[in-house]
Parts: sequence; structure tokens; C-alpha cells
Amino acid sequence: MKKWALLLAAPFLLAAGDPATETEHTVEEGETLGGIANRAKVPAAVIAAANGLQEPYNLRAGQVLQIPRQRIHIVKDGDTGFGIAQRYGVPFSNIAIANGLKPPYAISTGQRLIIPAVLKAAPEPAQPARTEPYFRWPHDGRVMAGFSLRDDGKGHDGLDIEANRLDMVRASSSGTVVFADDEPKRFGRLVVIDHGNGWRTRYGHLARITVKLGDVVKTGERIGLAGDAGVATRPELHFEIMKDNKRIDPASKLPQR
Ligand SMILES: [Zn+2]
Repeated sequence: MKKWALLLAAPFLLAAGDPATETEHTVEEGETLGGIANRAKVPAAVIAAANGLQEPYNLRAGQVLQIPRQRIHIVKDGDTGFGIAQRYGVPFSNIAIANGLKPPYAISTGQRLIIPAVLKAAPEPAQPARTEPYFRWPHDGRVMAGFSLRDDGKGHDGLDIEANRLDMVRASSSGTVVFADDEPKRFGRLVVIDHGNGWRTRYGHLARITVKLGDVVKTGERIGLAGDAGVATRPELHFEIMKDNKRIDPASKLPQR
């Protein structure tokens, strides 16, 4: 009923631009949550909670923030609870609770009513949880041979990174050691780390292995020392990244350097 009443009330609800009364704020370039909260006179933590913001509260220009503002309405002659609720766009039950009103919800002229803020549901997180690890270089040597794996399985299935004998080799990402042993056919000594979600990294030709099967390692932690074990003809690290048992070019996942 009375749709026109809502339409008439709309200008009240959209006091846009005035930081002291606006209930939505469009973030402008360079604004911070603290600054917006100060001007709105609403605690930053309240705005953060209303908008599902996580620390460090990075805002972007154009982002629309709900400003959960509690307002006061002084009851005038002829006001009804339902009319006030419509005017502020707040369910009457919320007003009743905020003011301790009981049936039959009598209000009287001059009464100060708290109009509680209505919070929209917090927005969905901007991005789904990341399932791909961040990889870092396991060694900072030059790449001697790149990835060139062909469909027939021939070619090179990783990177060969130039190393000095006994240089530290580091975990490219955090994970669990699922192989740390001799591998006589090709790598001599090999470490394999599982990073979850089908991601694995492999480190071959090691002179020494310094982790054990089942160890949990962090990104950058030492897993072994470089060498020329297996078929290597000089000290080098053979490094692979695998996703769901398929090798992919490590250079496409490692940071530029
Ligand atoms: Zn290799």
C-alpha cells in the first residue's frame, strides 16, 4: 500500500554527498576508511563490519560503502509507527526493538525514536580463495636449459638452474615432502614437495637431501644442497612444477627476475 509515500520519502534517504547524513558513500580517489568514518561520525569498525571489510581496509575508488547510521525521529502529530518505518525504509519491528516498544506500539507526539540502521548483507568476498600456490625461485642461478616438453613426452620437463656444488636449494612454496630419496635413473637424489590442490614441485641432482619424508616446509626453507647426482654433468638444479601430474613450464609460474 501507499507506494507514493515511499517515493516521497526517497529524497530523505538519499542525502547523498553530505558526509554527516549519507547512508551510502561512494569512495573517491585517495579516501581512507578512517577519513570517511571521521566525516560520517560513525566508528570505522562499524563501517568495516557493515561492509564486510577486512584489515588492512584497502578501499578502491568507486566502491560503495554502506554507512550504518542510527537516526533519531521526533514524533509529530499524525505520525504512525508504520508511516515512520516506511519513511526511513526500516522494518517497524526493528524500530520497536530499538525503542523497547510493546504492543499496541503506542507513540506520542514529541517522543524521540531511535531509527536503527538497516544493514545490507555483507558483500561476497571479492575473490574466491586462491588454490594456486605462490612459487619462488628455488635457487637464484641462471637458467641453463628451459622447459621444452613436447606432446610425445620428449624434450625437457623442467628448468636446469646453474648452481655451485653445495649451494642451498629452497622450497619453491610451502608444502609437505612426499619424496626425499635416491632416484637412480635420472636425478640421483630427488625431493618432491606437495603443495595441495594438485600442485607439486620436484628438485633433482641434489648432492644432499636435508629434509625427510613427511616434513612440512615453508617457502624458502632449505630442502637440500645442489650437486651433480644422477645424469647431471655439472652441479645444477633440475626443477619442475607439476599440476595434477602434468608438468608445466616453471617459468610461467615463477616471478620475473
Ligand atoms: Zn633437467
